[in-house]
Amino acid sequence: MKQKILTRLKSTQKPVIINGAGMVGETVLGFCRDNGIAVAGFCDGSLKVEGTDFHGFKVMHTQRLKDHYPDALILVTAAAIKDVVDMLREEGFEDWVAAGPLLEDLDVGQNSPALDFHKFSVETCIICHAGYLNPERAFLRSIDLIITERCSLKCKDCSNLMQYYENPKNVALDLLFQSVDALCLALDEIMELRVIGGDAFMNKQWPLVVEKLLGEPKIKRVVIYTNGAIVPKVDHAPLLKHPKVLTIATDYGALSSNMDKLIHYFVEHGIAHRILQVDSWLDCASLEKHERSKEDNAKVYQDCCAKNMLSLSDGKLFRCPFAANADRLSAVPEFNGDYVDVLAAVSSPAGVAGAGRKIMDYVLNKGALEVCDYCNGRPLSGVEVKPAVQTEEPLSFRKFPRIQPIHQYEK
Ligand code: SF4
Ligand code: SF4
Repeated sequence: MKQKILTRLKSTQKPVIINGAGMVGETVLGFCRDNGIAVAGFCDGSLKVEGTDFHGFKVMHTQRLKDHYPDALILVTAAAIKDVVDMLREEGFEDWVAAGPLLEDLDVGQNSPALDFHKFSVETCIICHAGYLNPERAFLRSIDLIITERCSLKCKDCSNLMQYYENPKNVALDLLFQSVDALCLALDEIMELRVIGGDAFMNKQWPLVVEKLLGEPKIKRVVIYTNGAIVPKVDHAPLLKHPKVLTIATDYGALSSNMDKLIHYFVEHGIAHRILQVDSWLDCASLEKHERSKEDNAKVYQDCCAKNMLSLSDGKLFRCPFAANADRLSAVPEFNGDYVDVLAAVSSPAGVAGAGRKIMDYVLNKGALEVCDYCNGRPLSGVEVKPAVQTEEPLSFRKFPRIQPIHQYEK
C-alpha cells in the first residue's frame, strides 16, 4: 500500500495538496520533501487556519480549494478521514490518497513519561487510515461513552445538552459494561473510547469503567474528558497513568476551579494529559422542531461537523452527542431508525457478525437523522457563541412520551 501511494504521488501530473494543517500534516510534508514529492499547498476544513502561513504555504479552506486547484490530488492526513473524504466528495474531489500508510515506518513509541502528542497524533493517523482503507474490518475511529448526565458546570450552550437535565444521574455500571461488551463483540477494533458526560469525574465509578475499557484489547485508547473542577484521588493516578489513557481537561478559566491543582496532579504523577483552551463555541444546543423539508434537513446534516461523533448511550449507538442526549432526555419522539441498538443487535439471530455489519452500515451509509430537524446543526461556518456561559436553572424543553423507558441509573 505504501509503495503504491508513493508511486502515485511521484508520478502524478496533478498538484499535490496536503489536507490538514496540523502536526500530522507537518510530518507528511517532511516525508514528501524527503521523498522528492512536490507539494503545491495545504488545505484545511477549519476556518480558523484559513489564510494562515503553514511552513511557507498559505492555508486554503477545503471548500475553496476548487478555486485554486480544481484538479488537485489530495493527501489526507486527518485521523477523521471519513469526514474529510465526505467533504472532498461534496466539493467534487474524487482524487485523494490516505497519508497513514506513508507514515507506518516512523517511530511513534512513547519514550518519555509526558505524552509526546506529535507521536500520538501520527500513530492515530496510521491506525485510523488502516482501518478506513480496509472495508472488511469493522473499525471505528472514536466513540463517546456517556457514563453520567452530571456535570459540575451547567453551560447554557453545552452541545451535549447537559443544561436540560433536571435531575441528572450516573448511568448504571451493569448497563455500561454490557454496552461495552456488546460493542467489542460486534466490532474488530475501536481506536478510542471517550469517557464522557457531563464531566466523567462526576461519576465516582469512573475508575471501574476505565479499568473495564483497558481490559478490552480491541480498544486502543481511552480518553477521559473533564472540565478542571475535580481532582481525582491519588489512588487513581496509576490508572490514569496507563499508557492507553489520555485525560483531556477543558480550561474554562475561573469556572475550572481546580485546574491548577489538576495540572499539578497530572505532572506530579506523570499522567498523559492535554489542556484545551476554547475561545468560541458553535450555537448548536437549542432543542426545537424546525419543520424543515427533507432536502433542507439533509443539507443541515451534510454540513454538520458532528455527524460522525458516535455516541453510545444505554447500549444504543447514535451518530452524535446531540442525538444521544435528545433521546435520553425524551426531547424528541422515539426515532428508532436514528440509532443502532447494539445490545439488541448482538443477541439477534444475525449474531455478532450481523451486528458488526449493521453498525458499519449505519456509520458509513446512514444519512440525515429525524432528530436533525430538532437541531440547529453544527456547520463549521455556523454562528458562534461565548463558551461556558452558565445557567442557574435547567433549561426547559418539550418532553415526548416514551413507550420503552430503558434508562438504568446507578442506585
Ligand atoms: S462543562 Fe459545560 S460544556 Fe462541558 S459537559 Fe459540562 S455543561 Fe457541558
Ligand atoms: S445536525 Fe444531526 S448529526 Fe448534526 S449534531 Fe444535529 S442531530 Fe447530530
